[in-house]
Amino acid sequence: MIVMKFGGSSVADRPQIAKVTEIVRARVDRRPVVISSAHKGITDGLVAAAKAAQRGDRGPYPVIERQRAIAAELGCPAALLEPFFAEIRDLLRGIRLVKELSPRSLDYISSFGERMAVRVIADFMTRNGVPAAAHDVWDLGFLTDSHFGRARPLLGYEGQMRAAFAALPAAVVPVVTGFIGRDEAGEITTVGRNGSDLTATLVGAALGAEEVQIWSDTDGVMSADPRIVAGARNIPTMRFDEAAELAYFGSRVLHPSTLLPAMGRAIPVRVMNTNRPEHPGTVITGAPGASRPVTSIAYKERQTIVTLSSTRMFEQAGFLAEVFAAVGRHEIVVDMVATSEVSLSFTTHDQRGLAAALAELRALGEVAIHPGKSILVVVGQQIAASPGIGARILRAIADAGVNVEMLSHAAGSINLSMALDDADIPRAVPLLHRVLFEDAS
Ligand code: ASP
Ligand code: MG
Repeated sequence: MIVMKFGGSSVADRPQIAKVTEIVRARVDRRPVVISSAHKGITDGLVAAAKAAQRGDRGPYPVIERQRAIAAELGCPAALLEPFFAEIRDLLRGIRLVKELSPRSLDYISSFGERMAVRVIADFMTRNGVPAAAHDVWDLGFLTDSHFGRARPLLGYEGQMRAAFAALPAAVVPVVTGFIGRDEAGEITTVGRNGSDLTATLVGAALGAEEVQIWSDTDGVMSADPRIVAGARNIPTMRFDEAAELAYFGSRVLHPSTLLPAMGRAIPVRVMNTNRPEHPGTVITGAPGASRPVTSIAYKERQTIVTLSSTRMFEQAGFLAEVFAAVGRHEIVVDMVATSEVSLSFTTHDQRGLAAALAELRALGEVAIHPGKSILVVVGQQIAASPGIGARILRAIADAGVNVEMLSHAAGSINLSMALDDADIPRAVPLLHRVLFEDAS
């Protein structure tokens, strides 16, 4: 049994859904479970409609017409989505009347993208000779906690999910909603934007899938963002920890939490291209990969460097604990940390949390805040063990005329991270890629 997840661009319109149908048809022997995102742009459109309604806008909301057009070009019966359109309109009217958009309502409205997509896709596949049935994932045992916008399945969901799938007819491909869930009170939740990948690995882990396939629009995971590095190349195999690191640091192919469920069950995750299904993509497993020093380069923009200086730090125990206790109280997520005897720098993307924590941080020392930074990470299993690799990386950055403002590489770790100006990324990344990947071969 395999889980095949198709992202928004893979199911954007009829031409794409026709490709998906052929990809699934070619794999029916492997008993596929399809997990689908909403059509590209639909979730954004629903969120935009909700925000417009909250401001008092009466519509019409373009997202409904867009979804209607996709269903029509697929040849679906006009009535298929009417109940959903009616519910969306009711909900938007409610939001407009109360002028309030709670995280719960936002999840509720966002959920329609996936619910409508699976219905039109299953209908289209069935009419094209791949018998399929649409399912809302909550009908298949996916119950979550009540953290709207970042819900996670309840402990023990796996057993219920296995039982639910076991009861489905074997010759019909289940087409299941990604992204959404329902809590024990029956309220609709979501696992977070771009979360269908995570749904796929959670379903794969529950069912003990032989493989989870993530189908999107690049040839697997690339050595750098192909939009800024012309020579970016496919990485045929990666280890879970390398891929997790990359997902977190901005390689846009995988949702950051995706790999955990697969890692736990040692289920390979294969990243594939819907537009080039013959390309082998990238296989992510627990096995040690090729013995290359560097696997990939990624970056995350719009970060802030916070530097705290205090002579109190000098030879004093517990200072760092005080700083991070304050940071923790405000739920500020920290990515990079560097310390010296009298100063401590860390990075975060959380401007709002930072503003709230400022008074507490100022009580601990002098605080300097520098927004507009990027974290650039070089990921590779052998970085720590390869003499000279750090020097090559820093030389490349220096040759690009770029100033490194913070640097971090933990003992034995698989990444080397740097903070630099957002504006320097288009210069630094291509040059670094050339030195690490292109010159050697
Ligand atoms: N449709 C959702 C989003 O746009 C989930 C996903 O695409 O994975 O965020
Ligand atoms: Mg997506």
